[in-house]
Amino acid sequence: MFRVGLTGGIGSGKSTASGLFAQQGVPVIDADAIAREVVAPGQPALEAIRQAFGAAAIGADGTLDRAWLRTRVFAAPDERQRLEELLHPLIRDAIRDRVRRLTAPYVIIAIPLLVEKGWRSEVDRVLVIDAPVEQQIARTASRDQMQTEDVMRILAAQGSREERLAAADDVLCNEGDLNALRERVTLLHQRYLRLAGQR
Ligand code: ATP
Repeated sequence: MFRVGLTGGIGSGKSTASGLFAQQGVPVIDADAIAREVVAPGQPALEAIRQAFGAAAIGADGTLDRAWLRTRVFAAPDERQRLEELLHPLIRDAIRDRVRRLTAPYVIIAIPLLVEKGWRSEVDRVLVIDAPVEQQIARTASRDQMQTEDVMRILAAQGSREERLAAADDVLCNEGDLNALRERVTLLHQRYLRLAGQR
């Protein structure tokens, strides 16, 4: 299975582009959704988090208290690393398992921090969705009713646009309207079908 990793900064249009690939019939695996699944009640990751971070990590309803955990690891890089070391292998295995069960020429795997967090070896090709920073901020602020400064803080915590672009095999410039995006997705879809067929 030919695996295309789709990534990009906050508000660059990853979800929108993923949806357009899905409309072309391409299976899309969303790493964020998998990250939520692996910590669901009954999954081993939840117990591992309880052991590593204490009972306060689990809410009264038995689910992971994400807000608590986010605050706990936010200012503590070693704790964040501990959490990532615990979760990443589980997320990676779940993605591999899902890829194995697919029958399609290629798959899109959407991984927001693909470049920053070392997921390169899990994909055959990297597609970066790119938009000017001002547009990332404006789109995110309007979608999430957020203040510009809050979006900028998240942006600053991600890798830089340059770093992402340097890791890209393909760059989808999403600076135009939705029709332009759709056209570019269609062209990339044809390219990926060709590349998948050559393997
Ligand atoms: P996040 O990193 O926050 O998950 P994302 O990269 O998945 O964001 P989207 O949610 O796809 O980004 O896009 C951000 C917002 O911008 C959405 O409201 C989306 O509808 C809008 N948007 C994306 N691309 C375009 C476009 N080409 N024209 C107009 N609006 C767009």
